[in-house]
Amino acid sequence: MTVEIDGLAPWLSVPFEQLLRAWQAAELGHAPLIYGPEGLGKTALAHCLAKTMLCQQSGKAATVFCGQCHSCQLMDSGTHPDFFEVKPLEEGRQIGVDQVRQFNEQLALTPAVSQSRIGLIAPAEALNDNAGNALLKTLEEPPNNVYLVLVTNHLQRLLPTILSRCQKFSIALPESSQAVAWLQKEAPEASQGELSTALLMSAGAPSLALQTWQSGDVEAAKEVLNKLHAIAKGEGVSPDLAEQWAQNPSKVWAWLAFWVSQIARSAIQDDEIDPVVSAISQGQASDWSGLWHDALEGRSLCQTGVRQDLLLSRWLIKWESVVSPS
Ligand SMILES: [Zn+2]
Repeated sequence: MTVEIDGLAPWLSVPFEQLLRAWQAAELGHAPLIYGPEGLGKTALAHCLAKTMLCQQSGKAATVFCGQCHSCQLMDSGTHPDFFEVKPLEEGRQIGVDQVRQFNEQLALTPAVSQSRIGLIAPAEALNDNAGNALLKTLEEPPNNVYLVLVTNHLQRLLPTILSRCQKFSIALPESSQAVAWLQKEAPEASQGELSTALLMSAGAPSLALQTWQSGDVEAAKEVLNKLHAIAKGEGVSPDLAEQWAQNPSKVWAWLAFWVSQIARSAIQDDEIDPVVSAISQGQASDWSGLWHDALEGRSLCQTGVRQDLLLSRWLIKWESVVSPS
């Protein structure tokens, strides 16, 4: 039996069943921790789990949330009084101790609508040390019928004291055929080539790939590749290219590292990558690893005061010397 849930990607069906079975068998600890690579929809999975646990119809006997009851409607509108979510106030920031203290207080109240109260922390690696320590109290002595659901992309960044108190559920990357089929449904206007590139750029994580495509990064990365190809054909490095790329250095370095790794791969194995990638790699037994390392290093220097236009310019000269026919 495979559960199909609206809004839940197909590769999450099996993990969702695993969580459901644990819940139905009363084997779900009070702190399930869902972990795996970024961009798989783990937070959506956590929402489905919470909705099921709070549903007034399903209880522990039914398979999945009913979608009809008062609790389900409150979850759909994002106003369930027994569901609390903690996340960074701004993307990329940490979760602070005050947020966790307030969260602890909310969870300690008696459930208003459902049988339980559920707190979701995503991404849990954003908890700073003080916030993590403040959470420990609830993790160690959870109030009755309180569950903490944690979601993380980086298990090793959680405090060991938190990790040891959680029940871990891992989410793996789907097969690339399944991922591409899902992407085609989500972005029917994209070509298969663009979607395959987006998936490769996202290390196989489909939700991240969708975001990458929607944000226009696939197109921008392809433009970078086309410039590299032009240089490889002997057209020279245009004088303002490094300066132009230095407007967005972190992404450009990531794309350079990505394309160099694709070119190196294409040189040794014959799978369908990008025709431009194949064109560049053809007949070149070059040492790509130096260019790849330099791109990663350039990226790591983005937050420092080092002038990115100079670094990019140096990288382009090296690129020209490696690929140029003359
Ligand atoms: Zn329901």
